[in-house]
Amino acid sequence: MTQTYRAVEVTSPGQLELVERPLRERGVCHSDAVTVNVLLPSISLPRVPGHEVVGRVDAVGPGVRDMRPGERVGVGWFGGNDGTCEPCRRGDFINCVNLKVPGITFDGGYAEMMIVDASALTLIPAELSSAEAAPLLDAGLTTFNALRNAGARPGDHVAVLGVGGLGHLAIQYARKMGFRTTAIARGRGKEALALQLGAHHYIDSEAGDPSQALRQLGGASVILATAANGQAMTALIGGLAVRGRMVVVGVPPDPITIAPSQLVFGHRVLEGSLTGSAIDIQDTLAFSVLQGIRPMIETLSLEQAAETYARMMRNEARFRLVLTME
Ligand SMILES: [Zn+2]
Repeated sequence: MTQTYRAVEVTSPGQLELVERPLRERGVCHSDAVTVNVLLPSISLPRVPGHEVVGRVDAVGPGVRDMRPGERVGVGWFGGNDGTCEPCRRGDFINCVNLKVPGITFDGGYAEMMIVDASALTLIPAELSSAEAAPLLDAGLTTFNALRNAGARPGDHVAVLGVGGLGHLAIQYARKMGFRTTAIARGRGKEALALQLGAHHYIDSEAGDPSQALRQLGGASVILATAANGQAMTALIGGLAVRGRMVVVGVPPDPITIAPSQLVFGHRVLEGSLTGSAIDIQDTLAFSVLQGIRPMIETLSLEQAAETYARMMRNEARFRLVLTME
């Protein structure tokens, strides 16, 4: 085994630097594909970012029986749980109060190696390349899980707000789950793509009142809000059908403003959904293979991490940027 490995560290806020690190513990994964994600401000530095990671198991720790060296595995936002807090004792692992998150609470995937709890890993199906699988581990999982848990039934009307990194996957999942699917974004630039991804309808949110446009389509049983824009979410509340539900997965800094009467009259629901655990990733990957769902990706090298990150922050990613390494 090599004594050092290359990693990209956040050395100070906004600064990504390629470094050579000593191998202090036995590595679990040679990361071979990583996508770029937004960082939280409360991280202790230096920290290696990245929470959509695919690699091969290099070595396993004592007591690990279900993972073998050489297997191709992935990890997303869920990096392990304590197993003892109240949510864990109720089986709600993603809401563990001591949740481990790659790239946030421990070093993530912008590196040639990382160390992960075996319980957080999922085997990658042979049908998926590593670069294709990586964005499904968080962006795919987030939208797949939110849609399958939102209570809509086949034929129900489901709207997806945002046609970006999450939205372009959400549209495919919604269509393949059997929902009448509407995509909503600003302008007409993404209309053709949204329809190509499987949307039955497209609403340009700038062309008029988007909630009125949704009501003209019968109202939405579910609105999956992927766009990082609280104002755009607010503008759609009025498009929910009776007993409709807005599920928020995008995390914008601005608030959602809602009149209590919008919820009470019509029994409407506003809720959030946070990714899922390793078994949910397994389901996401299996469904993606079954239904031919793939992310739209562009691959770049580890050395390009800083410029890749900057492009994502400039909203130039179409739609997931994946870092690859030998
Ligand atoms: Zn816990």
